Amino acid sequence: MAQKKGNGVIGSGSRQSDCIFCKIAEGSLPAYKVYEDSDVLAFLDIFPIHSGHVLVVPRRHCVDIFDIPENELQAVIVAAKKLAPAVMKAMNADGINIGMNNRQAAGQVVMHAHLHVIPRFRDDGLKTWPQRPYNNDAEKQHAMERIKAAL
Ligand code: AMP
Ligand code: ZN
Repeated sequence: MAQKKGNGVIGSGSRQSDCIFCKIAEGSLPAYKVYEDSDVLAFLDIFPIHSGHVLVVPRRHCVDIFDIPENELQAVIVAAKKLAPAVMKAMNADGINIGMNNRQAAGQVVMHAHLHVIPRFRDDGLKTWPQRPYNNDAEKQHAMERIKAAL
């Protein structure tokens, strides 16, 4: 059902006329589709990290990990599970990243939930984001307790 969210974004189920992935899902915007079923569509990312970079999206509009119903997330991840070995084989890749950006601060640009299936190659020179050690055990304890309490 359509839901008005606090941030003004229309939530799960509503087809958004200005959403490019809704347009691809309804066929009014072209895409290089590689897979579809009743719940899910997968197509080439128009600006790939590497050739064969695929986006897996629910047909029904939903915004992100917070918004997507569990059954639709399940359909999307199951499709990614099918696509990962296919992309690996088709592109002669050495590995696959599965990624999801949620909200602008995390790099989400298209506000229709999607998984990236990205072929990777030995020595392709791409670095993941920088990591750091925890400053101390108190910082770890704090993070663990806050997350557990929020569940
Ligand atoms: P994100 O940053 O996770 O929101 O990623 C959105 C992705 O959608 C980017 O990698 C874009 O290159 C890709 N994209 C944007 N428009 C299109 C389009 N019309 N067809 C295919 N991919 C697109
Ligand atoms: Zn949409």
